[in-house]
Amino acid sequence: MKYEPIIGLEVHLQPKTKSKMFCGCDADYFGKQPNTHTCPVCLGLPGALPVPNEEALDKCVKLALALNCKINKESKFDRKNYFYPDLPKGYQISQYDLPLGYEGFVEIDIDGDSRRIRLTRIHIEEDTGKSLHEGDLTLLDFNKSGMPLLEIVTEPDFVDEIEVEQFAKRLRQIVRYLDISDADMEKGQMRFELNMSVRETGSKELPDYKVEVKNIGSISVLQKVIAFEFKRQTELLEKGEKPAQETRGLKDMTGETLSQRVKEDSEDYRYFPEPDIPPITYSDEKIEEIKTTIGELPNEKKHRFIDQYNLEPSAAETLVATKRKADWFEDSIKDISDKALIAEIAKWYVGDVIGLLKADKKSLSSLKFPPADLAKLVSLVKEGKLTGTLGKQVLAKMYKTGDKPDDIVAAEGLEVVDDESELKAIAQKVIDENPKVVADISKNPNAIKFLLGQIMKETRGKANPKTAEKILESLFA
Ligand SMILES: [Zn+2]
Repeated sequence: MKYEPIIGLEVHLQPKTKSKMFCGCDADYFGKQPNTHTCPVCLGLPGALPVPNEEALDKCVKLALALNCKINKESKFDRKNYFYPDLPKGYQISQYDLPLGYEGFVEIDIDGDSRRIRLTRIHIEEDTGKSLHEGDLTLLDFNKSGMPLLEIVTEPDFVDEIEVEQFAKRLRQIVRYLDISDADMEKGQMRFELNMSVRETGSKELPDYKVEVKNIGSISVLQKVIAFEFKRQTELLEKGEKPAQETRGLKDMTGETLSQRVKEDSEDYRYFPEPDIPPITYSDEKIEEIKTTIGELPNEKKHRFIDQYNLEPSAAETLVATKRKADWFEDSIKDISDKALIAEIAKWYVGDVIGLLKADKKSLSSLKFPPADLAKLVSLVKEGKLTGTLGKQVLAKMYKTGDKPDDIVAAEGLEVVDDESELKAIAQKVIDENPKVVADISKNPNAIKFLLGQIMKETRGKANPKTAEKILESLFA
């Protein structure tokens, strides 16, 4: 029997805000002394009144719109009731039946085909504190308590871990483009919860159980968890057993999971409307206003690059990886209409410039030369004033010093030798020095190539190879 997984995701995302979700505490808490970013509201003390953070609400609506969601113009907050040491007030302020956004989708690319992953909803809630376990002790830090969190819930649309990976990366890219969040997983700003079950391949029915795995902090671990759960659940089904409906946690970073508790239903949380916060309303005008701040998203940008600049999809994908990367590229080709030259600049940018930065683990902002200088360099190569090899040498120098390509070429005497009489003299010298090769020339098809190589050596790579080859051929004609 063959089996297939059915996978849905919940993504928790920490939006960038100045203050927490319902109080004025500084949101820049990461790495700070425990319990220094707290007040009666985020500690949940009796009588403290929450006031919603508008910046966080607008960011949630902006993300919902960018993810093709509909917006609930009348929305509200609800209390989700449960106790946990890091939630001592006994409830979390979340959204239940009226999330800010619903019914959206994210487009992902699978083997060159685009596929839609449907989104059920996106809502906003507050984060809990953090428990730290030390030996027999559990310590509590409430700096994270009350931080805003956006929760994005997908339909069970994923068929494998590759789709999940593509989705997670695309989502991260979009929120970074929108500057909604840095989505830095090492700081816990983007976390995943997996919903997964397994059924016989070909069956159209959803299984009557679902396994939830909470608190997954990286895309690679998420993929490992999917592989582990697929194997675990398939093995149970093969033995004729139904996997339990439960919440599982990570055992370690290998993707192995352990049972934590039998899953609560939403009834167990006894949701009810938050009495201390009035309903939230968004007018059509306000929604339109937020829409205008979205700008071009990575997928649109990629397709525009392919159409407008005739780029290969893979090159376009690399170029739009971050907004800054894409902007730098467009700055470099600002005044250029020659499509072949643009494609060539893209190649140098993706392959060489980004390659140099990667090798040094540096970011684009540390580049010492402006975008226009790369275009100038690539033009010199394309016009035959520099060979490709010399071009790379010039680029290495630009990278180190920030000097202009023209200045480097002049200072180092790197111009291509294209003068026929000069090249003829060098060719003659090479012929004189290699009588054996010359004697062999009619039988050895590689002899000309060898002599050409010697000319390049004599000129330290500066001879125009086409002119030099022509001269050699004329000398042996
Ligand atoms: Zn506070």
